Amino acid sequence: MSETIIFQNAFLINGTGSDPIPDAVLVVCDGLIKEIITHGKKIKALKGRFIDLRGKTLMPGLIDAHVHPGNVEWNLSKTAELPPAVYVHRVTRTLETDINLGFTTLRDAAGLDAGFRAAIEQGLIRGPRLFLSVTPLTQPDEDSGDPGESPKKPSPRNSLGIYPEICAGPDEMCAAVRRTLNHGADQIKVFADGEVVAQSKTDRAKPGQVKFSIEELKVAVETADAAGSYVMAHTYCPEAIQNCLQAGVRSIEHGNLMDAETARMMAEKKAFFVPTLTVYDLCAQEGREGLDAYTIEKLEIVAYKGLEALEMAYQRGVKIGSGSDIIGPFQHLKGRELALKAEVMTPMEAVVSATRTNAELIGMADRFGTLEIGKLADLIVVDGNPLENLSLFEHALKQVVLVMKQGKIMKDIM
Ligand SMILES: [Zn+2]
Repeated sequence: MSETIIFQNAFLINGTGSDPIPDAVLVVCDGLIKEIITHGKKIKALKGRFIDLRGKTLMPGLIDAHVHPGNVEWNLSKTAELPPAVYVHRVTRTLETDINLGFTTLRDAAGLDAGFRAAIEQGLIRGPRLFLSVTPLTQPDEDSGDPGESPKKPSPRNSLGIYPEICAGPDEMCAAVRRTLNHGADQIKVFADGEVVAQSKTDRAKPGQVKFSIEELKVAVETADAAGSYVMAHTYCPEAIQNCLQAGVRSIEHGNLMDAETARMMAEKKAFFVPTLTVYDLCAQEGREGLDAYTIEKLEIVAYKGLEALEMAYQRGVKIGSGSDIIGPFQHLKGRELALKAEVMTPMEAVVSATRTNAELIGMADRFGTLEIGKLADLIVVDGNPLENLSLFEHALKQVVLVMKQGKIMKDIM
């Protein structure tokens, strides 16, 4: 049995969306939440290490459902040119930053090698629990315009041998999904729409240019489902989103060009929506150096549409998760997503999107995402009240003063 840790005098946000509880006591032992006491009774009988949280908030560890710690540069080919040892150390640094920010779980939207998950599980590096897509699935480009360029030849994502899977037709889709699962993917990431930062040097498709047929997407969903997995889809325009919904895709990413009819359909199909506001905000605020003119042209199509899309989905009762989608530098700003969301949602709803809803999306709501008896002790202590000021998370390296993952204290600067 491990040491019992007793958090006392906590302002408790449990992640379910219910009202916060002042002066709560939460007991952790053997990696699990053993007890939650909300009336100040019984506490004298408890034995273990007491941690006083007066003036601080205790809440579930954050989950970011759309990240790219593997994309260490804005420019993907620059990332791929890094020597393997340099690449691994830079990714490791980002993963360590993420746990220090209070993210106890990440869902990688492709690019991260399964070795990083193993290194974290073996305790070689400090990092969040990882749910990986490993390699994204995309379509061959129509015509690169360059006769020397084979449209089926993908560009590498890094120097560790991760390439996008280029597939056309149901059979290739099925094979690509199986290969990706064999490479250690927890979920399958498909590009169902043109990209802003293209993965392949031959890919000229813009946001709004639909990729994959409903039939192909159905095969991806069925093949993933047969292995106990699911599909997350990069989409922007209504047609791409609707194709994915008809195919049974669980998780719609970005969705910037959404319309009302598509939002209604998303609610009806009970799909999850993961808007990714931070990455576009970063491009507007912190600059976009390193992006070429064509990438910026593509960015302009979607950059300022994210909040409108969120509003449409929110009004229609869509289940809304949370993802920052940061690529390149500025990975430490992942927490900005919560404050950006609160322009549409309430602060409590923004917190729930990054905790309970993201856990549901990943299929782990019975294990973590809320602070309830019997769940894994994934929790954070915030100096202050995030419901009064969500931008605390943007300064999380300072404001998140304690991080616990599965009962283990990963950070303590209290
Ligand atoms: Zn992404």
